[in-house]
Amino acid sequence: MAFLGSAARRVASAVRPPLSPLCRLSSRAYSSEHTKEKNVPYEKTLKQEGGASSGPTKPLPRSADAVVIGGGSLGCQTIYHLAKMGMTNVVLLERDRLTAGTTWHTAGLLWQLRPSDVEVELLAHTRNVISKDLEEETGLHTGWIQNGGIFIASNKQRLDEYKRLMSLGKVYGIESHVLSPAETKDLYPLMNVDDLYGTLYVPTDGTMDPAGTCTTLTRAASARGATVIENCPVTGIQVRTDDLGVKKVKAVETAHGTIETPCVVNCAGVWATKLGEMAGVKVPLVAMHHAYVVTERIEGIQNMPNVRDHDASVYLRLQGDALSVGGYEHNPIFWDEVSLNTLGGQTVLITVFTKLCAFTNLFYSSRIENADLLFE
Ligand SMILES: Cc1cc2nc3c(=O)[nH]c(=O)nc-3n(C[C@H](O)[C@H](O)[C@H](O)COP(=O)(O)OP(=O)(O)OC[C@H]3O[C@@H](n4cnc5c(N)ncnc54)[C@H](O)[C@@H]3O)c2cc1C
Repeated sequence: MAFLGSAARRVASAVRPPLSPLCRLSSRAYSSEHTKEKNVPYEKTLKQEGGASSGPTKPLPRSADAVVIGGGSLGCQTIYHLAKMGMTNVVLLERDRLTAGTTWHTAGLLWQLRPSDVEVELLAHTRNVISKDLEEETGLHTGWIQNGGIFIASNKQRLDEYKRLMSLGKVYGIESHVLSPAETKDLYPLMNVDDLYGTLYVPTDGTMDPAGTCTTLTRAASARGATVIENCPVTGIQVRTDDLGVKKVKAVETAHGTIETPCVVNCAGVWATKLGEMAGVKVPLVAMHHAYVVTERIEGIQNMPNVRDHDASVYLRLQGDALSVGGYEHNPIFWDEVSLNTLGGQTVLITVFTKLCAFTNLFYSSRIENADLLFE
């Protein structure tokens, strides 16, 4: 995990102005103790609101046209879109609570400009659903925050790439601006722009709230006739062999009943391989550890755009008046054996790391280096 240490130094240099108000504040307001306040925009996560012990939240139907397994981002999007396409006899089974898996941890960053046309179209569709459609359909706010997004270019090649992205954005009607370091500073006064070539700014990028998004997706799906059942782990998938010798799904088993169905959508995230094995299917998916740091409060950071530095492979997500900083490893740690019973296993690493890294330490990386040891 030496990578995150260097990424953090990179972040530090990106955010730290020469006479940073953050540095001045650091000796006074930021101690090495981790924050005691929970810096999320809602009181409780869906994960915290209840346990898996109380049994299924609804009775299981005997049959369904499709069973979606997993109530994370993927499962909730899937059941919503199936219902919207008119397939209403569909069931989502979540073993714990909605968002209990990786989705609960997500930074929820939505960047609209990507190098692939397909991704740009998918992201535009997602943004439309969470910022407009769901609110119209349910009357509920998904928690979407349009705080904008900035891509940092630390070299000329990267800035050229961003110029190409801006052209692509024009084709798809996505407003974006290539900014000089001085313009970037005007937009984001806390950022140290000394070593920047420039940035790409997309004002309509933003941040998704996993709990709000999943709740509204499933509410909208339920309103169209779909059934969402939490606290209901899938324990087996029955298959049959048809007259042509092809294996087909027959039913989904749980401790609370069996649902006959010709179609299963495996949205079980890092547990997808385990679910696949139940049907004799090998799912080519490998889980990796991911670490992120949630900072203390930073004066002046409110309403700033999210930041992505592709060269340092690091993201800075605005979280109220703090930042959530995460990185992608060049040498990731694989999570080889994900137990079927692991719940929020990622949290262990993440929490330890967060406790060690009060924001001050991002600037003076010794603690980060110490934290590296935990991962070895
Ligand atoms: C720190 C962090 C930051 C991230 N930031 C971003 C970001 O900014 N932007 C972005 O696009 N992505 C981001 N990601 C990635 C994103 O969060 C994930 O890709 C996404 O949440 C995965 O959703 P999922 O539905 O596939 O899996 P999960 O959310 O893991 O959902 C799988 C669900 O299946 C359930 N399940 C498992 N086994 C069973 C069973 N036997 N029966 C019934 N249910 C079962 C689990 O309980 C779980 O709820 C981030 C991830 C992390 C960890």
